[in-house]
Amino acid sequence: MYVIGGIFIFLIVANFLVFSIKKEKEFKKKYMPFAGILLMTPIVAVPILQFWPSPIFLIPVLGFGVVAFLNLKLTKFCDQCGKFRYNRQVFEKMNFCSVCGEKFGD
Ligand SMILES: [Zn+2]
Repeated sequence: MYVIGGIFIFLIVANFLVFSIKKEKEFKKKYMPFAGILLMTPIVAVPILQFWPSPIFLIPVLGFGVVAFLNLKLTKFCDQCGKFRYNRQVFEKMNFCSVCGEKFGD
């Protein structure tokens, strides 16, 4: 369990470093979903290791899956200013960037 904690902290630091060094918009846009999956891996590994081989591990793993999917759906990348915007009104579509006012496409 400590190993997973260590890996998790390492991934957070690594992601932080990558995002502060590489500032190209294109790179951020492409790397973001990948970084999300990478960060989810140790979190998902905990219930799998905890409950394996019982199928109970599927419940938290599916839960994480839904949360990850929603996060990805609610996060938009602004091509204009290069920032990620997170939509807090889950049921309302986010059409404009709250930083620079750029219109979002789909
Ligand atoms: Zn913007």
